[in-house]
Amino acid sequence: MDYPFFQVQHYIDGQFVDGGPRFEIVYPATNHVIGSAPEAGMAEVDAAVQAAARAFRQWSRTSVAERRLMLKRFAQLIREHEAELAAIETWDVGRPINENRAGYIPRIAANIEFFADFAATHGSEAYPMDNGYINYVLRQPVGVAALIAPWNIPLLQATWKMGPALAFGNTVVLKPAELTPIGTWRLAQLAHEAGLPPGVVNVIHGFGPNSAGEFLTKHPDVKLISFTGETTTGKIIMTAAAATLKRVSFELGGKGANIIFADADLERAVAISLRSSFFNQGEFCLAGPRILVQRPIYETFLERFQAATKRLNVGDPFNPATQVGALIAREHLDRVSGYIEVARTSAARIVLGGGRPELPAPFDQGNFLQPTIIVDVKPQDRVCQEEIFGPVVTVAPFDEEEEAIAIANGVSYGLSAVVQTRDVGRAVRLGAALEAGTIWVNDFFVRDLRVPFGGMKNSGIGREGGHYSLEFYTEAKTICLSNQ
Ligand code: NAD
Repeated sequence: MDYPFFQVQHYIDGQFVDGGPRFEIVYPATNHVIGSAPEAGMAEVDAAVQAAARAFRQWSRTSVAERRLMLKRFAQLIREHEAELAAIETWDVGRPINENRAGYIPRIAANIEFFADFAATHGSEAYPMDNGYINYVLRQPVGVAALIAPWNIPLLQATWKMGPALAFGNTVVLKPAELTPIGTWRLAQLAHEAGLPPGVVNVIHGFGPNSAGEFLTKHPDVKLISFTGETTTGKIIMTAAAATLKRVSFELGGKGANIIFADADLERAVAISLRSSFFNQGEFCLAGPRILVQRPIYETFLERFQAATKRLNVGDPFNPATQVGALIAREHLDRVSGYIEVARTSAARIVLGGGRPELPAPFDQGNFLQPTIIVDVKPQDRVCQEEIFGPVVTVAPFDEEEEAIAIANGVSYGLSAVVQTRDVGRAVRLGAALEAGTIWVNDFFVRDLRVPFGGMKNSGIGREGGHYSLEFYTEAKTICLSNQ
């Protein structure tokens, strides 16, 4: 197989630069080294933040119309490079190329376009008082935004954060995850080509603790942090941010329930469950790995879901027929496999998968895991409580609506849920009762950039999307006009 080699660099103050020791980038499907990236130390982080702070003086005063034009040019370049970005994302993550082409990649440009338009078309508030005074509200950019992304959906996360941050007039220092630096580096090249002024976008690479991530979150000139990643990392970043009272927005882990009632369209329920279980190899915060099925259809659903899962093609992510790719890293594969062992030593039963698939070379060296279905679980079992972040789901029966709600809410996370029913009243009741930031009824992973996105409980702090992003990425200033 022909491998590319990506010589990834930082992007600081409009320049592509090295700086810090280099670390290897590995293709998850074969564990072959496909590039290297530099690890930013304090000096590179400081250079990026200072560049962003200098650029902020101009960018924050650039007219909204001009910012919109530049961001639209950036989005247009992303669109022109969609095929290349789809391939890069597969090299980075190991996700099937088909999943990229089918919907993931077109969302990347859309993230930038949407917020460029949103910033240009939204006004502000005014409050005329009875005594003739008028209060009006100015929305102004905050300053340098640190944008920290996870490895599972790197390009989507980078643009979901860059779009609003830049459109509302902030400048950014973006740090992709150390496991997936290629796509964000390529995005920086496209931002450069689009003519975004030096310092408006900066990209630095590196790790979390005692590395680029920590230095960035502690930097006194960073005013706000948009972070997506694990709940435990969120807690550490919140502590780091407290010293200088930075504004934070956190999108953290998830352990969604997929609740299927007896009146659901069974065929559709199986199709939706395949996606909510195995999209991105199950390495997906919004996934619904806790499948709860009402007892009258439990056996039939399980049989059909099992048969459909068995038919999924696992293997070469660049083969257009592949539906399940490789897990991000060997350590992560071991971690996910550890949960399967936990299930094996309990009363639970593994009815499908549970091991490594047999694949031809070089994919026999990759981090592949068979899609795995576990049954006979109790809600308090570790496999039902902890985020596994792989192609591993549990299926369990329930009798009453109240019971399903209690099980669904009985975890520390609250990011998303799926409800499958034809009963509108029930959908409304569950919509109100479930503790989750997003609830899909009879579908999965449909996104509208206008709506609030984020999680409850251990799944996050704050919301982004539409005017929720406007609120996070701007300062509201009230001006009171006297009529005297
Ligand atoms: P992670 O928390 O390990 O890392 C995320 C990012 O934070 C990386 O860029 C990492 O380098 C950086 N980081 C790590 N420690 C840091 C520190 N001390 N200071 C500053 N930065 C630090 O998460 P991950 O393993 O990359 O991603 C998987 C997690 O992300 C899962 O828990 C998943 O649910 C979550 N996620 C959530 C959403 C959402 O929208 N809620 C979306 C995608 C992923």
